[in-house]
Amino acid sequence: MRTQIFEGNSNDTTFPKYVFSLTPIEMLPQYARRTDRFLDVIGKITAILNAAVACNTSGDLMMRRLITLQDEKGNTVDLSLYGQRALEFDADIGQNHHVIAIFVGTVMKIYREDYKFLSGTSACRWYINENDIPAMRTFQRGLPSQVTPIKKLELLSEDYMEQGVEEKTLFDLKQIDPLADKNKRFQCTVTLISTAEKEQWCYRACRVCNSKMVPCDDGYECTKIDGCSCKQYDWKYKVCFIGADDTYSLQFMFFEKKGVELIGKSAETLRKQYDPRSIPPEISQWINHKFTFIVKVLFKQSVKNIEPSFEVVMIK
Ligand SMILES: [Zn+2]
Repeated sequence: MRTQIFEGNSNDTTFPKYVFSLTPIEMLPQYARRTDRFLDVIGKITAILNAAVACNTSGDLMMRRLITLQDEKGNTVDLSLYGQRALEFDADIGQNHHVIAIFVGTVMKIYREDYKFLSGTSACRWYINENDIPAMRTFQRGLPSQVTPIKKLELLSEDYMEQGVEEKTLFDLKQIDPLADKNKRFQCTVTLISTAEKEQWCYRACRVCNSKMVPCDDGYECTKIDGCSCKQYDWKYKVCFIGADDTYSLQFMFFEKKGVELIGKSAETLRKQYDPRSIPPEISQWINHKFTFIVKVLFKQSVKNIEPSFEVVMIK
């Protein structure tokens, strides 16, 4: 079964204006990997990520925008709009009322065995707060009168497409100047040979600024240099691998976002099972695997050490 999409046309009364068949958010996971039908969903938008160049599940770079939808029971699903659709979606929607959306023509995808999400490409269309749709009115009535503002999340555009990224050997990378090459991205192909000794794989990250939190008299405090009064933290990844090619070996750091991409779950989840000092098998399983990364220098760490270390900004 395929969703039929009709353009609303007031001169034509033969077709209904809106045609869709809604699948509840909680039923979506069972459609993962199924491509025999398109899915239509209704939900309240709770978060929107800016459109940025990102890697899709096939490893190609394309524009992507992520939107989080929530049903009346609190179940959520992420929707990834790709290509033209990512740019067409207008993120400037009001903050003082609920934003209810129906997306039609999406498919359920699964990423690294764990992360299920809706994918919207050229077949995808949407309706936002259209009160002549009965399903929207019903949904609206089920919501609390108090409005929670939509979270606007910023992803830095991974704009290395335009810059052109140089492929480097690790011997070349070892010799870069951390200051002069601070903002440059490089591509390299490495085999992960171990995790760095004595490094913990996760840290207590300040909820406000992501800086490291350390114990203090009344719990934990943020170590941000110019001050931060936040007392709460989440566990986040800072997985340090040693990577090698046949020219040299260097350190490669995965922070939260890339860690989730590699491992398939958040540091917060993995921390429930493992101590920060012992490397979980979910991490060590990647040792001896060969990857192509886009990296940038970890400036602070690199200026005080003899050899530079790098942050993985993209796993190709
Ligand atoms: Zn902080």
